Amino acid sequence: MSKVVILGIDALDAALLKRWRNDLPHFSRIMDEGYFAPLESTMPPDSIPAWVTIYTGMQPWEHGVVDSMDYLDIRKGAQAVDTGTFKGKTFWDKAGEAGKRVCVVNPLLAYPVWPVNGIMVNGPVFVTGEAQAFPEEIVRSTKLPELGGMVDFPDRKDLGAFLERTAQVTREQARFGLDLLDREDWDVFFLCLLTLDRVMHFLWRYTDPEDPTYPGKNPFENSVKDFFMLLDSIVGKFADRLSPDRKLLIVSDHGHSRRPTRALYINEMLRREGLLKTPQGKVPGISPVAIVEKTKTAFLRMMHRLDLEDWVYKIASVIPKEKRKSLKSSSYAVTREESLAWLSETGGGTSFGGVEINRALCLARGTDYEALRERLIELLAPLTNNQGERIVEFARKREDVFTGQNVDKYPDVVFELRQDYGVDRTLFSGLLGKSSTHRKVSGGHSKFGTIMLLGSGVTPPGEKPHISQVYGTIMRILGLE
Ligand SMILES: [Zn+2]
Repeated sequence: MSKVVILGIDALDAALLKRWRNDLPHFSRIMDEGYFAPLESTMPPDSIPAWVTIYTGMQPWEHGVVDSMDYLDIRKGAQAVDTGTFKGKTFWDKAGEAGKRVCVVNPLLAYPVWPVNGIMVNGPVFVTGEAQAFPEEIVRSTKLPELGGMVDFPDRKDLGAFLERTAQVTREQARFGLDLLDREDWDVFFLCLLTLDRVMHFLWRYTDPEDPTYPGKNPFENSVKDFFMLLDSIVGKFADRLSPDRKLLIVSDHGHSRRPTRALYINEMLRREGLLKTPQGKVPGISPVAIVEKTKTAFLRMMHRLDLEDWVYKIASVIPKEKRKSLKSSSYAVTREESLAWLSETGGGTSFGGVEINRALCLARGTDYEALRERLIELLAPLTNNQGERIVEFARKREDVFTGQNVDKYPDVVFELRQDYGVDRTLFSGLLGKSSTHRKVSGGHSKFGTIMLLGSGVTPPGEKPHISQVYGTIMRILGLE
């Protein structure tokens, strides 16, 4: 039975840790003296489902939270995730119920805070609001750092300021965490740092000479590595506070690498198959949707080619929010009542995704649901690019991949693309294209995050650890399993 200090570092990638280990003395020490392994993330490998899996030990098809964040559309007022699905079921709740004292700082999504056996402090992620604490007096006695998710969407000219501010927030969160850690001999201390992910989303291409949009030698060349070094120094401070009965656990929700630079237009494939319908125009033979889509795509491709992506967002910001959303996702171009299938939102910008089937329409038309699923799989599986290479790693019925009470939160058919391909809702412009937003968001989530353990007498999860095993590892350290 031990105590545990848990550092949750969003998007801490195992391969990058290995690459830079010579400049990361504290991470490197844990690799040598402790346990270190790539940690397989959830499907999709996205922060929302993955953190909830870390908190609860449940797979997304059990906890039912499979929403994805869209980094191109995180703006104030976005939809908050209902904490009701995991509140009371997290490792800190369970530890608290068993009489363990807990201190929890900044866990993604766990906002508003709730009563725990100790302290819980957090800020909002997708909604505006103040940082909160349980008990409330923490807010009165301590200056809180900025908590929750940062919602910056920096332009190229703001990248320097964004990096500085992000590093500053990270240092303040760490200092605040250390302050709380020193207050009491907590059984469970958990600090979540979410900033690295954002740095990589926006700066990846400046650090990766292999990226097609790498600008050449530039002042941000080392920005991601520098951020790893900042986190390394923070890890060192927490490692200094270990004792024989206090272990250190570092986990991340997913990895991070180059965001897909190529796009597969799945809705267009469905449209060509007659499964997806677009609104009919008044003039026979002329489709206004096709005209708008082609114009939009040509415009985005031109702006990408001319390196003017920042302007796309400036121009888009004058379009009313709802119209902008519908234009961006091409949702205005799909007549759902008449369509049998369309690309699901699940998976966000990752290579994981799915196709939703309109079951009501299947019923009304007497279309066989299972036969339609099989047809979709037969359409997806053999897709190749112009070089004749397969694009789809797998395409299956959701029940063939997942089990559990919330399996229907997933789209009817799920698939994973090759890592350099992402899905896109573009219509009327071929089946394949390039990502026209890569200059804006060039880093993306990948499947393998990190798990690290320091301290003797702890049994790590097996050889190929999965994120759903983190909960059990914590319980074992605490002697609660
Ligand atoms: Zn994340």
